[in-house]
Amino acid sequence: MEKKTALITGASRGIGKACAQMLAAAGHRTVLAARSTAKLEEVADKIRSAGSEAFVIEVDLASSESIAAGFSKAAKEFGRIDILVNNAGITKDGLAVRMKKPDWEAVLNTNLSGAFYAIQHVLPAMMRERWGRIVNISSVVGEMGNPGQANYVASKAGLIGLTKSLAQELGSRNITVNAVAPGFIETDMTHILPEELKKKMLDQTPLRRMGTPEDIASAVKFLASDEASFITGHVLDVNGGIYM
Ligand code: NAP
Repeated sequence: MEKKTALITGASRGIGKACAQMLAAAGHRTVLAARSTAKLEEVADKIRSAGSEAFVIEVDLASSESIAAGFSKAAKEFGRIDILVNNAGITKDGLAVRMKKPDWEAVLNTNLSGAFYAIQHVLPAMMRERWGRIVNISSVVGEMGNPGQANYVASKAGLIGLTKSLAQELGSRNITVNAVAPGFIETDMTHILPEELKKKMLDQTPLRRMGTPEDIASAVKFLASDEASFITGHVLDVNGGIYM
């Protein structure tokens, strides 16, 4: 596949870091976005020492102004973005009856609105070029629901609706829009969960293990590739079988 520029949000750790490393290894230039630039630089250094180009931008996905500023810097460095991976995400769990407005808003703003504004920013150049790949990282809970995560689940289900609508809107421009819905993956996000809950999740997972960030990155790499050029509006479950 011809060398492209891939922008990955939330590339400082976990799934986003693995996506950035795998897309770089596939021969693409990478733009790494998150709030903590020090961590992003560490990832960028690894990518550079493996022989690929990487550029770091400081972006707070909860702010459309920050997205516009960061993405403009990336465009100055590398030109248009060909592949966008909307991976950054947060949780602020709690029962709906007690959920505070800031916790609802922070999760929806970061996970859903942030992805939308990021897409809006890269679309004009993709449309002109008549080539683009957008991959949104949703979640298994966006498909099945989860008590105590109304904000997070709404954001992840919203990403699936966004994916399907944009796939229809942009297909004629040869831009594919897909989602990956990870199950239970070993990252900082799940590290903090109680052992009892982890055991329960594993008992419900036919493959009897947690996923790795690389399991998700492989799916993202595939959806961003030429091999996936006839796939759009799809939600790819990478969940060990916990939901089917
Ligand atoms: P993680 O280890 O907590 O990493 C989250 C990443 O998002 C970090 O790079 C973080 O960087 C970035 N981020 C958070 N808030 C941001 C903001 N406001 N602006 C910019 N960047 C921000 O999470 P993960 O487990 O790798 O998850 C990655 C994605 O997969 C998320 O969307 C998550 O919902 C989804 N997912 C994860 C699992 C799982 O089991 N781990 C399952 C299903 C779905 P900074 O803090 O430096 O900004």
